[in-house]
Formats: sequence, structure tokens, C-alpha cells
Amino acid sequence: MRFDVVTIFPAMFGPVFHQGVVGRAIERGVIGFQAHDLREFTHDRHRQVDDMPFGGGPGMVMKPEPVIEAVESIRAANPGPVVLMEPWGERLDHRVASELAEEAGLIIVCGRYEGIDDRVRTALDAREISIGDYVLSGGEIPAMVLVDAVARLVPGVVGDPESLTQDSFAEEMTGWPQFTRPAEYRGMSVPDVLLSGDHARIKQWRRQQAAQRRVSHPKELKKT
Ligand code: SAH
Repeated sequence: MRFDVVTIFPAMFGPVFHQGVVGRAIERGVIGFQAHDLREFTHDRHRQVDDMPFGGGPGMVMKPEPVIEAVESIRAANPGPVVLMEPWGERLDHRVASELAEEAGLIIVCGRYEGIDDRVRTALDAREISIGDYVLSGGEIPAMVLVDAVARLVPGVVGDPESLTQDSFAEEMTGWPQFTRPAEYRGMSVPDVLLSGDHARIKQWRRQQAAQRRVSHPKELKKT
């Protein structure tokens, strides 16, 4: 699967995707990632990507031509759907991420300013995705969230596939509290059951704990 991101800040992505599980998958060629500089697709001396909103109002709007030309230039290498990161879009959750992980690629456009000229959405038949009901200053961090969430569902990205099925949301009964050494730290001990070696009891304890967490955070941890 390949991810192509269109942004005015391509340098933001290097530090994030050179590390960790996703970084290693890119290095190993399991997934492809490239950030494209939107300004490369302008034709004027000032490399302008924004302009004043028709109808008035504060701020600037991203011009349609550079975004559409950028996506057209990526198209040959990436057949996937176009995603615009937008705060009013469809909310990203495990179901959406799993659906997108089935694609051969994604072309992700990061907005800035007051947003993107709406004709981009129409012309590219784009899917709009939000990472939550709050407004950030740009689509770059949302795009990173999306790439990370989708990439780790692509076979071969996460080393131990069992850790995927154990993730919260992937199965009904997961998301239990985890502990590692030391068994005692500042007076707080790891629950005895986890040191017991009794796998049936451990499994049962984990199910109970996970169910409890769902009761205390019903919205955040509901099964999707
Ligand atoms: N004025 C707009 C906000 C624009 S924020 C409004 O009121 O809705 C600028 C850009 O940041 C957006 O185009 C989008 O690409 C990105 N962005 C901000 N918040 C986001 C969110 N919650 N999810 C996804 N993208 C977001």
C-alpha cells in the first residue's frame, strides 16, 4: 500500500515516519510513503497556494488548481482514493481505518488556512475525514494520525500480528491494563493474578478488566 500526502509542509512528516513501527515498514518497503510539496504545483513567482474567500470573511482559502494538479501527478503511481482531512468530515475510527487499509493506496490532502476550495472535493470525488470534533491549524497532524492508524493494519507492518488482534477495538474483549517489570514500584504492585502463571485465570481477569473499562468509558471504548 502506498500513501502520498499533499501538503505545504512536507518536512513535518520526515521526523514522524522515520521512526517506530511505521518507519520500519517504510524502510523495509512494506508500505510506501511520500510527502509532496503543494507549492511545486503552482505556476506563479510567489508560489501562491491560497487566495481570498469569495463572499468575504476572514482568512484565506486553498486554491483548487495546485491541489488538483498535485493529485493528478501522483495518480499514475497511486490508484487509491483521495482523502481530504477536514474537521467536518466523517469521523476516523477503527472501522474507517480498516476499510481504507484494503485500498492499494491513499492520496491525502492536508488543508491549511480556512480550508480547501470545495471544487477540489467535487473534482476528485474525495472522501473527507476528520480526526475529531475540534479544529487544528492544519491537516498535517490529522494526516499523520490517519496514515499511522491505517498503516498498522496493513499485513506485515506490525511485526507480531497477534498484537493487532489484541488491540482495543479489534475484538470485543481487549484493552485490559498492562504491566511490566518491576512487579512493585513506589508501593504499587502488579495484580497477583498476572504473576500466577495460571493462563485461564489471567484470561478471565483480562476480560473482566476490559469490560469494566468499557463501562467507565462507554463512548471512547465501544466496539466498532
Ligand atoms: N475554518 C475551518 C477550519 C480550517 S482548519 C472550519 O471552521 O472548519 C485548517 C485545516 O486543518 C483544514 O482544512 C483541515 O485540513 C485541517 N483540520 C483541522 N482540524 C481538523 C480535524 N479535526 N480533522 C481533520 N483535519 C483537520
